[in-house]
Amino acid sequence: MNHPNEEWGLDTLCVHGGHKTESNRAHLTPIYATSTYVFENTEQGVDVFQGKEEGYIYGRFGSPTIEEAERKIAMLEARGLKDASGNPLELYALLHASGMAAVTTLLLANLKSGDKIITHPSLYGGTQEMIDKILPGLGIGHVIVDMHDEQAVRNAIQADPAIRMMYLETPANPTLQCVDLKKLTAIGREMNLVICADNTFATPLLQQPFAYDMDFVIHSTTKFLNGHGTAVGGILIGRDLQRMQGDVRKFHRLLGGNSNGFDAFLLCNGLRTLSLRMDKHCSNAMTVAGFFETHPKVARVNFPGLASHPHHNIAAAQMQQFGSLMSIELHGGFDAAVAFMNRLHICTNAVSLGTCDTLVSHPASTTHVGVPKEHRLASGITDGLIRISIGIEDAQDLIRDFQQALA
Ligand SMILES: *Cc1c(COP(=O)(O)O)cnc(C)c1O
Repeated sequence: MNHPNEEWGLDTLCVHGGHKTESNRAHLTPIYATSTYVFENTEQGVDVFQGKEEGYIYGRFGSPTIEEAERKIAMLEARGLKDASGNPLELYALLHASGMAAVTTLLLANLKSGDKIITHPSLYGGTQEMIDKILPGLGIGHVIVDMHDEQAVRNAIQADPAIRMMYLETPANPTLQCVDLKKLTAIGREMNLVICADNTFATPLLQQPFAYDMDFVIHSTTKFLNGHGTAVGGILIGRDLQRMQGDVRKFHRLLGGNSNGFDAFLLCNGLRTLSLRMDKHCSNAMTVAGFFETHPKVARVNFPGLASHPHHNIAAAQMQQFGSLMSIELHGGFDAAVAFMNRLHICTNAVSLGTCDTLVSHPASTTHVGVPKEHRLASGITDGLIRISIGIEDAQDLIRDFQQALA
């Protein structure tokens, strides 16, 4: 893995980070449409297998395009940070077929039967379902607490020695709740937990969880990192290089949630413009949130950039900008929400987020349909809530579209 170049700024890292000169001098790292790689001879094969020599073995284990995406994202998450000895922080990343595959590797590589996760009630729907429906069958339990109450977090961990992992997501889907990374990682460390964060909504450009005492970060690269909605993917990034390249990589390979050259190529392509896109996403979102906040038909706007958001101060302390996800509630509940969504012309009615175009979705009937209603309501996901991922169109065109749909 290349050492992060301390001199490089964000834009340069997005464009050049992680690239290695390709053997045929192709400008971009090509897509290797091959399932296996040829050894020069048996001895060389043995060396590559034992990790004594660098080289590719088999498609499930990685490819040049996959590794370029992994290095680029690891460098972005590490940029400007130092390790415990004051050297530039080095991270290791493993690209997966999806965000959920990255979550699966993370959980199974760190938890065994009898262990428990401590987390908060506003997780991504898929992660929540995984914790509710799949982990219990493996003997892995969970404790859900309001992570804004530090004493409650401490008490819960002290009361239950089975708790092994703290899992954080900030800002979180779809009411944009934020948790305090600095305070919670300090508690997690004190209590000897494995500490993980889902950084999908913020991206490494807006928030660097490894600035705190974080062990692992995951992203759904499907979202802002790819940025164009062209491929599903996920990445798991870790600080303990030995573990990442040892047992965590073993879980990645054996669980089989590997990515592929084509998706990795699309991801690398998207990452080159990440910095440009995020600035526009964020400034558009600020403008649109301001518009919604003053509109008489909008009952509520959940956007961490607004001073009215309950976690505005947490977001302001740990994020560079506030991202482009928001949710709104209209006066008139479910029927008003459906009518509003059906009247939109520019905005796309689709789940997912972080694409160039603005996406609008209805969590109660789509992303959170598998989450029990009482859980859903407890985390503020009412029947009339509309989630919006603001794109990089002209803010004024978006506002005109929202205005006519509200009229
Ligand atoms: C989309 C998403 C996931 C899951 O990622 P997939 O790529 O859909 O598997 C996990 N966490 C967050 C916050 C997400 O938005």
